[in-house]
Amino acid sequence: MKRFLLAWVLAIGLVTSPWSSTAFAQSTTAKVLVLYDAPPNDPYTKLGFAYAIMLRNLLGHFNSDVTLAPVSSYTAGSVENYQAAFYLGSYYDNPIPSAFLADVAKTSKTVVWFKYNLWQLAWDASYGFTARSGLTFSSLRGLSAAPSSSNPAPDFFDTVTYKNMSMVKYYAYNASTGVVSADPDIGVTAVADSTKASALVTIKDSKTGEQAPYVVRAGNFWYFADLPLSYIGPRDRYLVLCDLLHDILGTNQPVLHRALVRLEDVNALTTTSSMNTLTDYLYSVHIPFSIATIPLYEDPLGAYNGGVALTIHLNQATGLKQSLNYALARGGKIVMHGYTHQYDSTPNIDNAVSGNDYEFWLATQNRPVDEDSQQWASNRLSAGLQEFSSNGYTPFAWEAPHYQSSPLAMKAVPPLFKNTYQRAVYYTSDTPDLNSGAPNHDYSVGQFFPYIINSDYYGQRIIPENLGNIEYNICSIDPFSCLTYTWNDLYTNAQYALVVRDGFASFFFHPFWLEPDLKTPGLQDFKSLVQGISALGYTWVAADTAQ
Ligand SMILES: [Zn+2]
Repeated sequence: MKRFLLAWVLAIGLVTSPWSSTAFAQSTTAKVLVLYDAPPNDPYTKLGFAYAIMLRNLLGHFNSDVTLAPVSSYTAGSVENYQAAFYLGSYYDNPIPSAFLADVAKTSKTVVWFKYNLWQLAWDASYGFTARSGLTFSSLRGLSAAPSSSNPAPDFFDTVTYKNMSMVKYYAYNASTGVVSADPDIGVTAVADSTKASALVTIKDSKTGEQAPYVVRAGNFWYFADLPLSYIGPRDRYLVLCDLLHDILGTNQPVLHRALVRLEDVNALTTTSSMNTLTDYLYSVHIPFSIATIPLYEDPLGAYNGGVALTIHLNQATGLKQSLNYALARGGKIVMHGYTHQYDSTPNIDNAVSGNDYEFWLATQNRPVDEDSQQWASNRLSAGLQEFSSNGYTPFAWEAPHYQSSPLAMKAVPPLFKNTYQRAVYYTSDTPDLNSGAPNHDYSVGQFFPYIINSDYYGQRIIPENLGNIEYNICSIDPFSCLTYTWNDLYTNAQYALVVRDGFASFFFHPFWLEPDLKTPGLQDFKSLVQGISALGYTWVAADTAQ
């Protein structure tokens, strides 16, 4: 069974104005500068870079040319070479070069500042920040108390209200380890001159009701009170940033809400009855769909075959080919989902069976596999494509098993696939060292997208999947399938996705939930979700032609 994909939180912040804002059309490539904190020889040295990669990926939705650089490398006047500059203040009191502060204080180019260190600009009278922007910066606010077993969830500014939706920031506290998983700090600003600045979005402390500005704008200057790239989720203030980027970059994107559905982990052992039932339903309601297909089935340990190793090539997978042919004639399109969707005869998290294990990432050790290289990955991708083409099939996109590949494996994708259809994990180096807490260690960050990314950090075009998938707790049958995620959960995610003006509702579904022996209401829930998404106003489209 497929492991649960809900937990995509990151473990690891119109007014007239003398600051005129320069809008540009999407037909013009926007040169964008992303500056991040990289304090030397610190366990968090590379975290800022990880956030910069995430922002760069979102900017890949737009016609943009993005430069990433540590803020410490900034040289005077650079901001004038870009249409917009973003500064990600992720490290408390990281010293900001005076050249950058002075340029922010006087440029008419768009500047977007996140979370920390605004005080270095706002509290130095020589920059005239308040006189020019009409904004003041007063303080940082975080948790109201240190969490403890008797007070595990102290209040903080946890709820961002945007387009009538309450977006709740992630918070978790482990009382036995004392570890807090949250990013509760915000920078508190106020509008001192409403002719120059305004608060566009507010954040509140849901326990006390206290409010503070979350996004403020003074002409070309924007400030986000936190870093909306930490602990992201499908109902999170991350979506506020995703949406406001259209305004920040001055595009004229109209409201456009499309829906996508993908049948998942389809392989030689997927039953034709489950596939044909789903195909018949989608065809009957005129909904095009994708089929994430594993071309080569491997069960090297015979985990599902009485201890006898089993390999099934696509040309031997009679039932699978029947299912695909039936679906292709009724609006289905093939996505290549791994070559084997497992690694070798060593369990790579589960039991080495296709559809269960990681293929391009050694999940058991959280590192690339020993033979990892762009060529190694390219050879596997090519072998998978060969399985398809020799049987007359042409996949339109790639989807990495469990949405995680090594950096080099991801670089192998764009030369072979015009599209990917997925979420992805990003790394702060091509040979990431993720398993130490030492200074300068690497970070990995998982990211989903509410819209199409033309080119991500590794050059992949990404068709989004942002709602997740229906899961039933079948622990008694499969100890790797113990969580529940209902169609209503996905429906709620789809409601939140509407705050992004061109946000998709894109989900996937495993045909095995239709198998009678699992005794789940899979088909009925699938239909309920499809109908619910339609009722929200989304238009179902074909993933292979979506632009
Ligand atoms: Zn899969």
